[in-house]
Amino acid sequence: MVTNFIKQKAEELKPVLVELRRKIHAHPELGFEEEKTAALIAETLQKLEFEVQTGIAKTGVVGLLRGEKAGKTIAFRADMDALALQEENDKPYASLHPGKMHACGHDAHTTSLLGAAMILKELQNNLPGNIKFIFQPAEESTGGAKPMIEEGVLANPQVDAIFAPHVWPDYPAGKITVQYGPTMAAPDYFEIEITGKSGHGALPHKSIDAIIVACQVVNSLQTIVSRKRDPLDPLVLSIGTIQGGSAFNVIADRVKMTGTVRTFNLETREKMPLLMEEIISGICKAFGADYKFKYEKYFPPTINDEKMTAIAEKSAAKIVGKENVIVETKPSMGGEDFSFFLQEVPGSYIKIGINNPAKGIIYPLHHPKFDLDEDVLPITAALMAQIAWDFLQE
Ligand SMILES: [Zn+2]
Ligand SMILES: [Zn+2]
Repeated sequence: MVTNFIKQKAEELKPVLVELRRKIHAHPELGFEEEKTAALIAETLQKLEFEVQTGIAKTGVVGLLRGEKAGKTIAFRADMDALALQEENDKPYASLHPGKMHACGHDAHTTSLLGAAMILKELQNNLPGNIKFIFQPAEESTGGAKPMIEEGVLANPQVDAIFAPHVWPDYPAGKITVQYGPTMAAPDYFEIEITGKSGHGALPHKSIDAIIVACQVVNSLQTIVSRKRDPLDPLVLSIGTIQGGSAFNVIADRVKMTGTVRTFNLETREKMPLLMEEIISGICKAFGADYKFKYEKYFPPTINDEKMTAIAEKSAAKIVGKENVIVETKPSMGGEDFSFFLQEVPGSYIKIGINNPAKGIIYPLHHPKFDLDEDVLPITAALMAQIAWDFLQE
């Protein structure tokens, strides 16, 4: 009964959701700058007569819907930020902000959560508990989840469970993917600076070539992955930037590199800074170069709770049919700061299929031609509403 209501209401809302998503898509804002997006969210939630808090972790917004009956509190999280990327789609709703784009679908997460809020508002009289809608800044950069938690977003009322949807181009539109246990890796950041001694390109013996040293370091760091750790323990080390040198005939005295390490295993994660520094310092010593090394832990791995994932799986089957629910077993090496919420509260991160080659929707996340099948907006809204309903009935 309730499922039919939720699905029907979501379908009715589709034009509203498409318009909302296109508005947000056309006006992307980077992390901690999501002011217009936050204002739009707050305004929508206020119209629904939710208790609304703004300015959490700079631009975060929280809406609280109190059910008529007492009970538990469930939360949903949508991220709001865009990427520093020039959109290459020529659709009518393409980004109007040069160099900024919603290429990770956060516009769809925000929209779907507002859709769920609209649906659940109509069920308020029968809700045994509360629902918190968390709109988070800066998932793509340093992360808005942690500061939001520090500012008390999981308290008053205390949140008992949390869920987040993320659009996922690996799956067709209409499918919902759940995963038990680890689903996303811990993404960490590092910087390496190598200092040698400059000199004439023709007189290598009178200099210390920072580029030669950096090349050895780049190659040798890969041996941590291939030779130091268990091949069955997922580990990625990628160097994303390398800068050095100023002229073709001058030996470079400085090379700076930045990169990322991805892990699931906490022990591996703890060991990585040391394993890396042993290689960097050993190579630099051999060449007489100096170095600076900085390793920053970004987000923990995203680990879904078994019981909450089971709820999500059942709710998803009600919305899209059992045959359209995928139980994924292979985790992604991508990272996600929703993990901070999952460290505090049991929950689940749900991947929403969005690809649809018939509509030309084939590009991966973070691609300048990324887009999503908007048919998934009501599906995602309905899914979140169904999960809220099912969880609060427990
Ligand atoms: Zn992203
Ligand atoms: Zn994302």
